[in-house]
Amino acid sequence: MIVLHTQDELHQFLSTLLPSQTIGFVPTMGALHAGHLSLLTAAAEQDDVVICSIFVNPTQFNESSDFDSYPQVLVEDTELLKKVKVDVIFAPKVSEIYPEGTAHIPHYDIGEMDYILEGEHRPGHFQGVCHIIQIFLEMIKPTHIYMGEKDFQQAMVVQRLINLKGHNTILVPCTTLREPSGLAMSSRNRLLSAEATARAAALNKALNFISEHSATHSFESLKMQADEMLEASGFEPEYIALCEAASLAELENFDHTKNMRLIAAAFIEGVRLIDNIAVDVKK
Ligand code: AMP
Repeated sequence: MIVLHTQDELHQFLSTLLPSQTIGFVPTMGALHAGHLSLLTAAAEQDDVVICSIFVNPTQFNESSDFDSYPQVLVEDTELLKKVKVDVIFAPKVSEIYPEGTAHIPHYDIGEMDYILEGEHRPGHFQGVCHIIQIFLEMIKPTHIYMGEKDFQQAMVVQRLINLKGHNTILVPCTTLREPSGLAMSSRNRLLSAEATARAAALNKALNFISEHSATHSFESLKMQADEMLEASGFEPEYIALCEAASLAELENFDHTKNMRLIAAAFIEGVRLIDNIAVDVKK
């Protein structure tokens, strides 16, 4: 495993590969956990060469305080990555990726994704995501890019970017890894006290509660109860949305002829957590 910091070093490494070698790419913002490792393991199973980027991308943060508090622990991450097969860690500085600053980035036409769900609550977020992924895809030209369903809309946005720019890269979606409590693993969980970490399992519980009762109750009534469950656990709910999984179009009520997804964001101790699950009627 080698750690590279510049585009020149990365190009130099890529030039040593044979055209027949496949590349699996896992973009991350570091503060790695078992969820990230599961993506890297999937890449190692399928690809000859595994590249993991660690880059806290400023252009996808709509709040500078969120960017400033985002955990950055490269030494710890590098140690953790020794547990899995990673060939290259690409950990550039912000100035390496944005030599002319971050004030102006191109616009990516991702349609309604820009302003629904996460796009609505984090204006500009997906434009920043598109820009950094576009830079990495052009640089690395990976065979596969591995994206977690934890960030369900983000994976859809990256698929749109791949189509928009005509990349040959295939997106591989990976399931969400959870703590035994059900809490989705997240780098942001590090920012929580032990007590809030225990209470934060309520986010996943609230979504499961809605899903489990979806055959017999309206979404509106279940959402009200889910919001109460979240508040009782110390969360400030931001949104819980019921969506058609394929398009993320919001649904007012359950339609069990469709694949549906529940998507939510909520704050606990000022930390914004997200989660999503498939709506699954227990028979
Ligand atoms: P991040 O470092 O948060 O930008 O995440 C990097 C990649 O890891 C993204 O594709 C995420 O969706 C994915 N990821 C984050 N948390 C999890 C998790 N708990 N399980 C699976 N994948 C995850």
